[in-house]
Amino acid sequence: MENTAPGADRVDALVVGAGLSGLYQLYRLRELGLRVAVFEAGEDIGGTWYWNRYPGARCDVESMSYSYSFSPELDQEWEWSERYASQPEILRYIHHVADRFGLRGDVTLCTRVTHAAYDDTAHTWRVSTDTGRAVTTRFLILASGCMSVPKDPGIPGLDRFTGEVLHTARWPREEVSFTGKRVAVVGTGCSGVQAVPVIAGRAAALTVFQRTPAYALPAHNRPLLDAETAELKSRYPQFRRAQRLSRGGTVFEPPAGSALAADEAERTAAYEAAWESGLLSGLLRTYTDILTDEKANETVAEFVRSKIRSAVDDPETAEALSPRTFPFATKRPCLDTGYYAAYNLPHVKLVDLRATPIETITPRGIRTTEGEHPLDTIVFATGFDALTGSQLAIDIVGRAEMSLREKWADGPRNHLGLMTAGFPNLFTVLGPLSPSVLSNIAVSLEQQVEWITDCIAHLNRNGLTEIDAAPEAEEAWGAHVAELADATLYPAAESWYMGSNVPGKPRVFLAYTGGLDRYRAACEASARAGYSGFVLSGEGRER
Ligand code: NAP
Repeated sequence: MENTAPGADRVDALVVGAGLSGLYQLYRLRELGLRVAVFEAGEDIGGTWYWNRYPGARCDVESMSYSYSFSPELDQEWEWSERYASQPEILRYIHHVADRFGLRGDVTLCTRVTHAAYDDTAHTWRVSTDTGRAVTTRFLILASGCMSVPKDPGIPGLDRFTGEVLHTARWPREEVSFTGKRVAVVGTGCSGVQAVPVIAGRAAALTVFQRTPAYALPAHNRPLLDAETAELKSRYPQFRRAQRLSRGGTVFEPPAGSALAADEAERTAAYEAAWESGLLSGLLRTYTDILTDEKANETVAEFVRSKIRSAVDDPETAEALSPRTFPFATKRPCLDTGYYAAYNLPHVKLVDLRATPIETITPRGIRTTEGEHPLDTIVFATGFDALTGSQLAIDIVGRAEMSLREKWADGPRNHLGLMTAGFPNLFTVLGPLSPSVLSNIAVSLEQQVEWITDCIAHLNRNGLTEIDAAPEAEEAWGAHVAELADATLYPAAESWYMGSNVPGKPRVFLAYTGGLDRYRAACEASARAGYSGFVLSGEGRER
């Protein structure tokens, strides 16, 4: 009897991860008639939206944009309740999609892929898991997330702490009570910025330990009106098309002119309008040179600092919350609801770790150079080993015993962010050197999943067994990605975009800054040219 997924030990395609990318990849590959299995480490599907269930977790792309576009029926039937969806609502949506398209049956939960080795003779991947499963697959697709490996905060003494320790990216499924507790939040990136005001509303005392302040912009979140939902639904197909053709996966008017060419009054009016828009990229879209010219960037940075000064009562706290060490948006800005106002509450305190660094965690709290802060709960919002972390967490060995960890020792190398030479039939969704985190990932993931699906269909149609990135194309792509990044201000920041938040990680810009539109065109051009930049081989045809 023929084996079928998910219990099978032989499948056509194995997808790692059952988040938004993995579920869509499953749906598409099943349409090709392939036997597909999905292995998911979590106890349930949902990926990012399963793990990051901390209080205040919410998407920073508008709900009606941050959703699948592949099914017009799905677009019409699903109703978002808020402009920016909360984590529970997005997770409900993912469950709805999985049920509606019958995807759950091919997903094996609580199963982490640990090893994958390529058999150059059989042209298959041998994959094993932490549950002892071993599966042979022709295609291996890593849909394991661009931000799914939490970063170890690396603070001494943590194991001695007698209170509760939580990480925003590994939040427990059961209710966490902060009532009557002295709570710390360590980290002020997007996760910390979202969690702080909600925890402040529940805890007896909240101390925020900040190493680098963020640029946080107001979300102006609100319930969606029936009329506006109906209006967008009436033109959803056109809207989805515009998203797909856009630079970042969201639809907007492109900026016109330099910030420095505008006079101050004009500039301030533009920034005020962007601030009021509640859009994460509102300020970036005001002028063309915000991310390429330091002086232009400083005009926005100072505008945000002026907003912080007017939101925070205590001038010293306002100054400590004001970012000054990196240009605006060279670390991802945060979209917040009530973040700065939380510091006006009498039981909320900021500890500036630049002035008073953490020495150690003690059994009772956190000790800085200033003294001990007694605590009942520590919440780490310290981020991720982004973009490469989830791939390198798996021991992947390609052709000629080459390990991915060795190959990427100085930074990721691949062609079009999709395949890395020497690792045939291994694809990555939302991986490094693609637009991923610099775009609306809901749009990016569909583009990549569809490219991978078309590629596999092409191989099968033509009786080909393998596709691999061509080494020279990979070198050229890496150089292109680096050249574009170097023309921006991004490398000026120590950020997870640069890999510099993780000690020992190579400092390389990890995403494609050229835009999703340009990226899509490059992927389509390659496919049209019979997958130029890739080496295809097999009995059917060889080139
Ligand atoms: P993050 O942006 O990397 O922020 C981590 C924070 O922790 C930084 O303030 C960092 O300070 C601090 N930190 C790290 N290690 C520390 C240590 N040992 N001691 C003290 N402070 C430490 O991580 P994140 O906030 O989880 O966000 C990551 C990304 O996830 C975001 O940029 C965004 O793309 C995504 N995200 C999106 C949403 C949304 O859609 N709304 C929400 C949350 C996250 P330094 O800067 O000094 O290293």
